[in-house]
Amino acid sequence: MIFYKTDEEIEKIRTSCLLVSKTLGHVASLIAPGVTGKHLDQEAEQFIRDHSAVPGFKGYNDFPATLCISINDGVVHGIPTDIPFENGDIVSIDCGAILDEFYGDSAYTFPLGDIEPDVFDLLSTTNQSLYKGIAMAKPGNRLEDIGYTIQQYAEKEKKYGIVRELVGHGIGKNLHEAPEVPNYGKRGRGVLLKNGLVIAIEPMINLGTRKVKQSPDNWTIITQDGKPSAHYEHTVAVRKNGPDILSDHSFIEESLKKNDAIVQIPLKS
Ligand code: MG
Ligand code: MG
Repeated sequence: MIFYKTDEEIEKIRTSCLLVSKTLGHVASLIAPGVTGKHLDQEAEQFIRDHSAVPGFKGYNDFPATLCISINDGVVHGIPTDIPFENGDIVSIDCGAILDEFYGDSAYTFPLGDIEPDVFDLLSTTNQSLYKGIAMAKPGNRLEDIGYTIQQYAEKEKKYGIVRELVGHGIGKNLHEAPEVPNYGKRGRGVLLKNGLVIAIEPMINLGTRKVKQSPDNWTIITQDGKPSAHYEHTVAVRKNGPDILSDHSFIEESLKKNDAIVQIPLKS
């Protein structure tokens, strides 16, 4: 069952998403080769609690951390560790928070230092595919128009693998609500998009095969061929006038301008 949100509820989700966005902005100011995921996780948890909110992922299905940190061939759901990041890593960081009963959810993949051009291209394409998908989140369209558009964009010239097993989702008082929001699909299929639908749109795109598997830690999803994977996510409300992006990557992008360890990826077009 889909819970359509009132304007007031959407503003609460926006407030939660704003905190998630600022938390990721804080993380973006700290991330660099030599830094550990555990350090970023502690910083993120403190930042969220300092703003009178609760980490959204910690304890969810017994996940042990505030951030999901998935490195290189890690797609999603990575557990922060004590192993320092290295020059050339790509680090996907997913963050959620609960504020005033509502969840916010957003993710970003950071390129650390010297990145191979084909990996850089993967990040750029995945990031832009997110915005192409978001543009479809308007009344009158159908759910699969979002995934269709993401898939078409990502598969057009490159032979990227679009992950099928993990999808976006409705979000509100629950982290994962109906409907599921796949990053692939057929045009004109799925539920009709209506004012008040709030969904997390989150393309997960691999440089090689679309196939994934679970790593031995029982959490991290990794690519089957060991090639890198990228992940960008926004929480988006469908409004009468079109998509309303409730999370905000500009906090990340502002931090990255001052962080010499990170190569800027081209912003959305
Ligand atoms: Mg997320
Ligand atoms: Mg999500």
